[in-house]
Amino acid sequence: MKITFPHMGNTFISAKALLDDIGVECIIPPYNNKKTLEIGTKHAPEMVCLPLKINLGNYIQAHELGADTILITGGRGPCRFGYYCEMSKEILADASYNMEVITLDGPNGNMKEFLERIKKLAGGFNVYKILKVIKNTTIVSKRVDEIEKLTYKIRPRELIKGSTDKVYKTMLNKVRKVNGSREILQLLSETKKQLMEIEIDKELIPLKVGIVGEIYTTIDPFANFHIDFILGNMGVEVDRAVTVSGWIIEHMLKNILPTKKDLRYRQAAEPYLGRMIGGHAQETLGNTVLYAKNGFDGVVQIYPLTCMPEIVAQSILPSIERDYDISILTLIIDEMTGEAGYMTRIEAFVDLLNKRRERFEVGKNVALFRS
Ligand code: SF4
Repeated sequence: MKITFPHMGNTFISAKALLDDIGVECIIPPYNNKKTLEIGTKHAPEMVCLPLKINLGNYIQAHELGADTILITGGRGPCRFGYYCEMSKEILADASYNMEVITLDGPNGNMKEFLERIKKLAGGFNVYKILKVIKNTTIVSKRVDEIEKLTYKIRPRELIKGSTDKVYKTMLNKVRKVNGSREILQLLSETKKQLMEIEIDKELIPLKVGIVGEIYTTIDPFANFHIDFILGNMGVEVDRAVTVSGWIIEHMLKNILPTKKDLRYRQAAEPYLGRMIGGHAQETLGNTVLYAKNGFDGVVQIYPLTCMPEIVAQSILPSIERDYDISILTLIIDEMTGEAGYMTRIEAFVDLLNKRRERFEVGKNVALFRS
């Protein structure tokens, strides 16, 4: 059995750690690129969401490298995510790609069932070994997210431009070649050390922008045109509230463990959207409120064209913009999105945030002078 999985930003690192540790050969699809999207678009119905198209491209590219099985996480409605497992199976079968699909569905309170699913993958592993593998995979996902967050802080402050990108890209190249969670964690701690050694401007107070929206397009750098790199290299500190480790811990593990979920975003979203409508709409709204309360200068919402939950969130965001006086930019992505237009909108948004901050500083100084 040679297993592949959707690339989806750095999710592939956690998937690799899991499969390496249980001793299953994994085929990591190439980093998402134009070809991946082209292949996915060719096989998918036109109106399906962009992430499914990219995922299909991943599976087919990995199949060409020898993968015969796909590991994906399942989901339930109300949005289209609930259909993606079955749709992927049918599209691949129609296109004569003979691949088995294993769905690691959300456990929804049933620990025994969840362990059975992993056991199916892990063959002869006993429960204790499986629990250890799950624990190590979770630690890997947390460390990867910590590295990403560290780059968000260092990139806008670095004295030699490009230093952060260089360390980070080296880590991404090396991680495909190491084996198992132990070696991955070792690489991540070396990367953290190298990032901490980058010389930075400690006095700089950069603009701060929160990134919200549909999980795939916020996490995957190909889908969002490397928005964290773009903003960071423009001197903006970014933050992304929805993370891979957050998804594993909050949506997978806490569904089976008797641990309280982190519902801060849901409480913050309550006055605007009181119920879950699928995808990450509540996170988008709640996290926008939290960013505003935490003094961020702006928020960027990113989502794939036709994503129902994010369309609803977009229609509510102007109320938060007005209530909290925070600037919000919405970017909608599909396979036709051109990089130049996308860049222009981001540059204009950063200009706007800079002007707002200048106005605020002038206002503050005038008030000080008068008092
Ligand atoms: S959240 Fe949006 S993009 Fe993701 S499956 Fe649902 S509708 Fe599609």
